[in-house]
Amino acid sequence: MFDKIDHIGIAVRSIEAHIPLYRDVFGMEFLGEEEVAEQRVRVAFFKIGESLIELLEPTSDDSPIAKHIEKYGEGIHHLALGCEDIVAAREAVAARGVRLLSDAPRDGAHGKLISFMHPKDTGRVLTELTQRKPDAEEH
Ligand code: ZN
Repeated sequence: MFDKIDHIGIAVRSIEAHIPLYRDVFGMEFLGEEEVAEQRVRVAFFKIGESLIELLEPTSDDSPIAKHIEKYGEGIHHLALGCEDIVAAREAVAARGVRLLSDAPRDGAHGKLISFMHPKDTGRVLTELTQRKPDAEEH
């Protein structure tokens, strides 16, 4: 059902402040930034093999990422599992008792469809399901 670690999301106060670490120290390719208005967050992606590191910076105090940083500090926020069919993956995990945080897949960064599972049902690890849109560019 899941075929790769799509990305690991890391909550930061400032994307700008972390670019040198991932790009220059770790030598990962910087794929750019974009804003996800619905989540009140800016995201930046770095490529490592088939997977990505996603930095998440809150754009507002009521952003879920702002609340996460307030509570836990900066650090790993979520794990994203890649799949080819997010609708089928949602149904499969739901059938095994894992709750989903939305009624349907949502638009995430990079034109991907995403859903989050309830962390209480995933060993307290916030876990995202991610599906590339069929017409989205592979990177
Ligand atoms: Zn993510």
